[in-house]
Amino acid sequence: MTAQAAAQTSTGRVRNSNEDAFGYRTDRGVFVVCDGMGGAAGGEVASRIAVETVLRGMTDSGTGRGQESPHQTLHEAIAEANRAVLERADQDTGLSGMGTTLVVLVLEPGPAPGLALIAHAGDSRCYLLRRGRLQRLTRDHSLVDEQIRLGTMTQEEAERSPFRSVITRAIGTQPTVNEEAQEIPMEAGDRFLLCTDGLTREVDEEAIARILGAGPDLERTAQALVDAANENGGRDNVTAVVVQVIG
Ligand code: CA
Repeated sequence: MTAQAAAQTSTGRVRNSNEDAFGYRTDRGVFVVCDGMGGAAGGEVASRIAVETVLRGMTDSGTGRGQESPHQTLHEAIAEANRAVLERADQDTGLSGMGTTLVVLVLEPGPAPGLALIAHAGDSRCYLLRRGRLQRLTRDHSLVDEQIRLGTMTQEEAERSPFRSVITRAIGTQPTVNEEAQEIPMEAGDRFLLCTDGLTREVDEEAIARILGAGPDLERTAQALVDAANENGGRDNVTAVVVQVIG
């Protein structure tokens, strides 16, 4: 299974700094998006450390970790990212309290059509556009999302809630990280989107589906997603990584 990817990020129209980070290795099928928090300096540092640590963990695995499943390798890479963020915060009191969301897509090697492995902590999301239909593959680890699932809050109430930014899982905020992971069979033509809440709070899923499926040029697709968030307010940093499975 081969893939192409493009990404775009923007500080948005309100914030002074961009605490989102992304990174990917198309040749190794690894794609990462993080949304840092904990003050501008801390947020930028946490998200960057997490992206780099997970990418390194997944791309070094070919040499040192022969027998592990991609699932196990990813779990260890995420645990390593958690340790790295905690250690950095320990070394620099100006960074204490920093943390980051994380969403990772791994296109597993093997015979086509292959499997996609998705792991996340926090409210950054992974979507799949397949045959024109958009599916959200991740549930937000956030206070309001849990209340929606329990039936104690409606979607509309959640969107207005002062607690809507409170996330319940993250990288770098606890000694261990409890990410959620899943594997799905891929199909040629699948198009994945990894993004931060700066996109999903400004652009509804109907519009995301339309933009994500609008054309073959992935650079333009990523740019159009970020542009839409900024046109609708751009109140937060916004990041979109678009991954096309070729087959
Ligand atoms: Ca954000």
